[in-house]
Amino acid sequence: MVRKKSTLSKVRTRTEAYKRKQHAHSDASHFRNQLKTKSKIHILDKYHNNLDFRNQYKARSKKRVSKKYKSDPMIRMKTIERAMNWYHKNNTLMRQNSRRLYNQRRRILKKYISIQNHKCIYKQSNLYMNNLNKFRQVIQEGPDYVCISCQLALFRNQVIPFVEEKYITQNMSYEIKKHIQSYFMYSSSREQKWICKSCSDKIKKRQMPSRAVVNRLKVCEIPSELKRLNNLEKHLIALRLPFMKIVNLTSGKLSSRFSQKGTKGPLHCVPSDVEDTVTTLPRPVDKSMMVRLQLKRRLKYKAVWEEQLINPNDVRDALFVLIKMHPGYK
Ligand SMILES: [Zn+2]
Repeated sequence: MVRKKSTLSKVRTRTEAYKRKQHAHSDASHFRNQLKTKSKIHILDKYHNNLDFRNQYKARSKKRVSKKYKSDPMIRMKTIERAMNWYHKNNTLMRQNSRRLYNQRRRILKKYISIQNHKCIYKQSNLYMNNLNKFRQVIQEGPDYVCISCQLALFRNQVIPFVEEKYITQNMSYEIKKHIQSYFMYSSSREQKWICKSCSDKIKKRQMPSRAVVNRLKVCEIPSELKRLNNLEKHLIALRLPFMKIVNLTSGKLSSRFSQKGTKGPLHCVPSDVEDTVTTLPRPVDKSMMVRLQLKRRLKYKAVWEEQLINPNDVRDALFVLIKMHPGYK
């Protein structure tokens, strides 16, 4: 009996504990739900009333969604599908109207952009014409300005108007005045005289300009002995024989003789032994003796580069002149 009673009491206490537990559990869940709704209401309130919070929340959720959209292809597909469905289902009159307006706006924008581009092209062409006009103005004048000191024909931007008082002042001694005056090649014409910048600088420092005519920069006369030589004779006595490929720079109807020439590829200067060549020439019998001579690029080649009659006597005379004048032949 005692045993029975004890089990019964045990069972009773257990059920009571279970009931209490249940009650507590339901209490807790009830409490949790209450808290949840409360916090939801609080957040909703905050969202509607607090502008900062709302913006932050929006930015955060936007970021999260876009991250999901970009990283997960499944989510992307679903989003696109949903949007398509929504577009097809919502084909009401209002929406049609708004879509039409949207397309119209896009069309106008496109047109506006193309007009802007056109304006830009117009601006560019204006710039081009301006530059062309400037260029034409610059090339209107050639090298027409002659320096009074070096007599070079120069462009306008290379010369300055010549004013004698700039170079010769009152307090100069007579000798210096004479010296400076000797640099200028005075002419009788009353035209405006010009002087190049480098000459002007040098004369202001009371130095002789290096390229002044007074500096004996004249090209002297070619001696008659050298003048009468023909091409092949000149070849024979030249110290250096240049080899280059010469091409016509212009092509067309213009005769190749008159067209402008240019070199192509490498240029070789080959030193030649003049003494050797001249001593192998036959001894002239009289002054008018001519020898037929062939010039080859190399002695063992069959092809002849140039063939001409030469006068050994003339070659010898020219060499004598050169030995007297030219330091390279001494
Ligand atoms: Zn000059």
